[in-house]
Amino acid sequence: MEFNKENFVKQIRKAGIVGSGGAGFPTYVKANSQAEIVILNAAECEPLLRKDQIIMEFFTEEVINGIKLLMKSVGAKKGIIGIKKKHEKLIEKLEKECRKEENISVFKLGDFYPAGDEFCLVYETTKRIIPPGEIPLSVGCVVNNVETVYNISLSNKTPVVEKFITVTGAVKKPSTIKVPIGISYKEAIEFCQGTTVKNPVGIDGGPMMGKVITDLETQVTKTSAGIIVLAADHPLIKKKTQGVEQFSRIGKSACDQCSFCTEFCPRYLLGHSVQPHRSMRSLLFNPKESKIHNEYSLLCCECSLCSLYSCPENLNPKEVCVKSKNNLREMKIGIKNSAVSQIKPKEPHPLREFRKVPVKKLIKKLGLSDYDKPAPYSNFDYKPEKVKILLSQHIGVSTKPIVKKGDAVKKGQIIADVEEKELGCPVHSSIDGTVGEVNFKYIEIIG
Ligand code: SF4
Ligand code: SF4
Repeated sequence: MEFNKENFVKQIRKAGIVGSGGAGFPTYVKANSQAEIVILNAAECEPLLRKDQIIMEFFTEEVINGIKLLMKSVGAKKGIIGIKKKHEKLIEKLEKECRKEENISVFKLGDFYPAGDEFCLVYETTKRIIPPGEIPLSVGCVVNNVETVYNISLSNKTPVVEKFITVTGAVKKPSTIKVPIGISYKEAIEFCQGTTVKNPVGIDGGPMMGKVITDLETQVTKTSAGIIVLAADHPLIKKKTQGVEQFSRIGKSACDQCSFCTEFCPRYLLGHSVQPHRSMRSLLFNPKESKIHNEYSLLCCECSLCSLYSCPENLNPKEVCVKSKNNLREMKIGIKNSAVSQIKPKEPHPLREFRKVPVKKLIKKLGLSDYDKPAPYSNFDYKPEKVKILLSQHIGVSTKPIVKKGDAVKKGQIIADVEEKELGCPVHSSIDGTVGEVNFKYIEIIG
């Protein structure tokens, strides 16, 4: 059948596909654009996470098919799979599948963090630099995550009702599993035979950019990548949960302006005006006086490398950058009306290659070496007693419920949606059952 872009875009919107790599940007918007190159972000650069590798290993055809569909939709002549060269067997498999397609190739990335940052990935694979504050489309590229293209390839059969997650860290049987959206992390951890520590907490996502969750009843959503279970007193948890007052007070007195945070910053190394050491300097001033220093945080992608790796004093430049951005937002200052918009981006730093942070070294620094293990795929048919489907699972407008308490629903049925003109897409029930509760945050379905 002939490919129809309009119908395809409608199909992936209706299937509720959003970026599954963390941000949750509705995929139909990307599919509706025009681009020269589709890049598959297969770097999976967050330490310990394995779910993208598992999807590529077990569902290679679907992944390639998803790239092909997206290429047709945006009119791209070229598809590039950006994957770390250490995954030799996987690359062999992908290359075998790519041989059937003339215009899709594999690009082998080094094992550094953050190889999967869109700006880094686009530069590595195409040598194009996305201008500060712009998106990959500005240089003719569309970037998508592995699970997103997998979902695209299934969009004519099923909406997004299941999620691949890696459950690892202090659990008895680290695994990668596919679970119904809306189950709790606690249930996923139980499948992995429980935890190995007292007072377990989780990091929702990778150890670098993920958030600490103390309540393991937290739901799995369309954007969940996995959970890393650690003891509540693990140094990484302590570091990630420092309060604003504490890190600002310590940062003010202990930062010696060595600028290591800036010198290793991946966006600075690409030639952007991100200078976290300047944001650290802002701690010495009041909000108005600190404005000029704060503006150097506007292009920070919050990769956490400065806070969790580069700073020799173990300070929190990333968190200070986030605080700086919040201060500027209150003053209604964004990239476009800031001083940094006047600074022309430079060429990538001549030492960029030598300043890439090897993931093994990063894992050691994070105190996670003991947990750097495989998390093999465990395929199981889990039938939860209930699920809680969050109404807000993507960037854009939150969905509004279209079911009420007591309604019978089927797996795959739309239960909340946004208006057609709004940015967003529907959410679906992930099980057959009855609506138990509807509130401003979630819809509970009892199986
Ligand atoms: S690396 Fe640490 S001590 Fe050095 S400038 Fe940055 S925050 Fe300050
Ligand atoms: S978190 Fe730090 S290293 Fe990462 S982009 Fe922001 S300033 Fe740079």
